[in-house]
Amino acid sequence: MTILEIKNLHHTYDNENYALEDINLSINDGEIVSILGPSGCGKTTLLRVIAGLERQSKGTIKINEQIISNEKFMIPPEKRSIGLVVQDKALFPHLNVINNVIFGIQKNKEKYNLAKNYLDIFKVEELADKYPHEISGGEQQRVALARAMAPHPNILLLDEPFSALDQSLKSELHHETKKIFKEKGLTVVIVSHDKDEAKFLSDRLIYIEDGKISPQK
Ligand code: ADP
Repeated sequence: MTILEIKNLHHTYDNENYALEDINLSINDGEIVSILGPSGCGKTTLLRVIAGLERQSKGTIKINEQIISNEKFMIPPEKRSIGLVVQDKALFPHLNVINNVIFGIQKNKEKYNLAKNYLDIFKVEELADKYPHEISGGEQQRVALARAMAPHPNILLLDEPFSALDQSLKSELHHETKKIFKEKGLTVVIVSHDKDEAKFLSDRLIYIEDGKISPQK
């Protein structure tokens, strides 16, 4: 079943050049898809438009067959049930680890236990009381993944979440996160410039070149 549907999506920042041009894309429930392409091709713009942090110039995005944005209408980012993890500096510096994870969970009596559970899944439960500056980069990314997943989003968007990590940490997290995503049946869209990473993590690869989806290489 299609969970995310993107139709005729265009985006321009300067009314002249298209950062995204006529993107058409359907992603199935539970699918892990990687978006690959050279720097500046539009990968981050696509994620930001899906998340609602950027408003597209043209085109429609649907989640579960409901329009979440088009030229006239847009549901704000916090109401889209989308989790977003970026490369680094993703955590709130003034909140400790557990409160960073609790922050994204809305109206739930079990907030604390839910947050603890996700820290546990990502093996950082012992860091619950630490502040972001007191933990390593790899640990911060684990907490960022826990925070993005804890509210049970429909879709998880990852923008190069592992690129600031060294190789051994990276492959450890690759294995763990893939297992967790598949166990939870999550729909995940990952932006990457690393083809090996993308191949390992995802069910499908999509290439973007100059703002357009290009045939597989
Ligand atoms: P990628 O993530 O693939 O590196 P981006 O989506 O960041 O690419 O950028 C796509 C194009 O849009 C680039 O030409 C970039 O310079 C431009 N761009 C990105 N963000 C902005 C912005 N906030 N304002 C103006 N141009 C931007």
